[in-house]
Amino acid sequence: MSFKCVVIICTLWIFNIKATVNPQLYARSEVIEHRIEQLCENIDYFECKHENDLLWLHITGYMATTVVTLESDLIVFGEHARELISSTLGVSWIERLAQTQPPYNLVIIPIANEMRNDVIDGDECIRKNSNGIDLNRNAKLAFFDKAGRYSQFSEEFAGITPLSEAEPKFIDKLAEHLPIRYFINVHSGEFAMYCSPDGSKTETFATQGEHIQRLKKLANVYCKECVVGSAAKKSNYLAHGTNADNLFFNRHVAAAFTFEVYGTMIDSDGCYKAFNPLSNKRLLYEIDRWINILNAIIYNTF
Ligand SMILES: [Zn+2]
Repeated sequence: MSFKCVVIICTLWIFNIKATVNPQLYARSEVIEHRIEQLCENIDYFECKHENDLLWLHITGYMATTVVTLESDLIVFGEHARELISSTLGVSWIERLAQTQPPYNLVIIPIANEMRNDVIDGDECIRKNSNGIDLNRNAKLAFFDKAGRYSQFSEEFAGITPLSEAEPKFIDKLAEHLPIRYFINVHSGEFAMYCSPDGSKTETFATQGEHIQRLKKLANVYCKECVVGSAAKKSNYLAHGTNADNLFFNRHVAAAFTFEVYGTMIDSDGCYKAFNPLSNKRLLYEIDRWINILNAIIYNTF
């Protein structure tokens, strides 16, 4: 860390300077949900549903008219509150899907963490939910019991028991009851296209090489700076209890991906800047290319 970075961090701490979220770029959760619910009223293949306070969306694919048990792709946005770009990308993609009916059924959770508005209101570094639990560590622990690995004060605190939190429990329930083809979990903090496993460097499976090759092809077109591969091997940490590992190894979806759609290397200006574009131009650029990537996956063009 350079001397300049230390000075900036100390200045932020001493004067308690917080970045102000630009509401023109990052709408509050109720605004995003209203935009989606309006679409559900007007688009016949859109259906909005609620699981307690959680809004989720079912989009019927056009292949449903000919395939009786058509598979669904499950996509989750906004699991970590401070990653505002995730749900912003999600609602933009949903609005595109309202223009052209996709082939497969889609199940989309646009805002998976209720604390998102608290970030917009100024608590810019919140990652966990209101119970202080990381929603992407709380799923069934796929490889071995690591519940005690993350302390209660850790940003990755997994909770005491797997699936104690409503959101990962609901994601697991969807995969239990629906024929899920692909699972995609959209985050930010870096540029990466990861596939399972997240929590083991030694676990492997027959289609792993195929998944990685497909992601590499996509990255070559749309995200040359993206790290591509198994998260456990390519990122610098093991993540235990992720939804992707739970759905891939316990619910047996065909592929489980985690996309990291934006990140800056230096976060000395705070979490808002580290996890989210600050300019409209850059935000639109990221939204556009990640919509291309999501579409390539659901249309099987990669
Ligand atoms: Zn995240």
